[in-house]
Amino acid sequence: MESETIRRKKTRPIYVGSVKIGGDAPVVVQSMTCTDTRDIKSTVEQIKRLEDAGCEIIRVAVPDMDAAAALVDIKKSIGIPLIADIHFNHILAIEAIKNGVDGIRINPGNTSKDKTKKIISFAKEKDVAIRIGINAGSLEKDLLSRYGGPTSAALVESALRSIELFEDMGFYSIKLSLKSSNVATMIEAHRAISEKTDYPLHIGVTEAGSLVNSAIKSSIGIGILLYDGIGDTIRVSITGDPVSEVGVAYGILRALNVRKVGPDIISCPTCGRCEIDLFKLSEEVERRLAGMKEYLKIALMGCVVNGPGEAAEADIGIAGGRHTGLLFKKGEVVRKIKEEEFVDVLVDEVKNMIRGT
Ligand code: SF4
Repeated sequence: MESETIRRKKTRPIYVGSVKIGGDAPVVVQSMTCTDTRDIKSTVEQIKRLEDAGCEIIRVAVPDMDAAAALVDIKKSIGIPLIADIHFNHILAIEAIKNGVDGIRINPGNTSKDKTKKIISFAKEKDVAIRIGINAGSLEKDLLSRYGGPTSAALVESALRSIELFEDMGFYSIKLSLKSSNVATMIEAHRAISEKTDYPLHIGVTEAGSLVNSAIKSSIGIGILLYDGIGDTIRVSITGDPVSEVGVAYGILRALNVRKVGPDIISCPTCGRCEIDLFKLSEEVERRLAGMKEYLKIALMGCVVNGPGEAAEADIGIAGGRHTGLLFKKGEVVRKIKEEEFVDVLVDEVKNMIRGT
């Protein structure tokens, strides 16, 4: 039996390049490079690895005019939409748009109203989407003093102010993010803003830490919102290789049955009944199937006592015996295999299942 289906809140669709966000589009997975954008070769290499891992939109930091100039070559060399991340300087935003980006992310909290208007006007002319990135770290001073700090209500009011400015200029190709490193604040802010507008929401926990810490915070923050039906595009922020952000993002989407992309590997924690090296097996299978886009539920179970039964929902799996294992599909045992053959046999069988042979 499949898990419950989450009903997503309907938002107004926009396009970032060819990728639709909001409306009936699937939740889009984004990431951000951690290279120096001026180093075109390293940046493109990292984006290619992110593309292979399933990243659907990429954002790069644009701190100066050299970085803005590099966008031309970066854009030419990649296959997914490119977003320029701009702070403070409206000239950089305009230059990035001239250089072919598909979207820009600005934080109106650190750009004056007049300069923001200039960005909006040029983005409108060039039909480029804008993410309004409200950040707890750069809220307007009057809001901080009225709300006593960067609360969810302060984030929401800041976002509503920006929306008003954009709408007054007839600009609607907007997505919103209300970021905080405080998970509860970020959840409450997105819940509240989703009641007040129908613009698509980009959700994520900012400054979430290294892999394990970020996976925990992001799973809670992004996961709770997705379970509420909120969120049109997500980014998991990790201090480390951004490729791992994409894996965690798809893991969250799979866990909630929001999107079925990639291998869903389930494995038991092992116990005294286990007589195979399940830790090594799960690591190796995960490594060999990294980047696979097709959804398959793969079970790696330590023993036959509970293995095939507990993993009956799996498309394919192995249940360990004494340095051997039973290969099973949909709970039915197919054949016995030796431990040293586990990974090769499983990977071959998975590929055959994807090809339909
Ligand atoms: Fe233990 Fe077998 Fe359950 Fe794994 S599947 S936890 S080895 S009983």
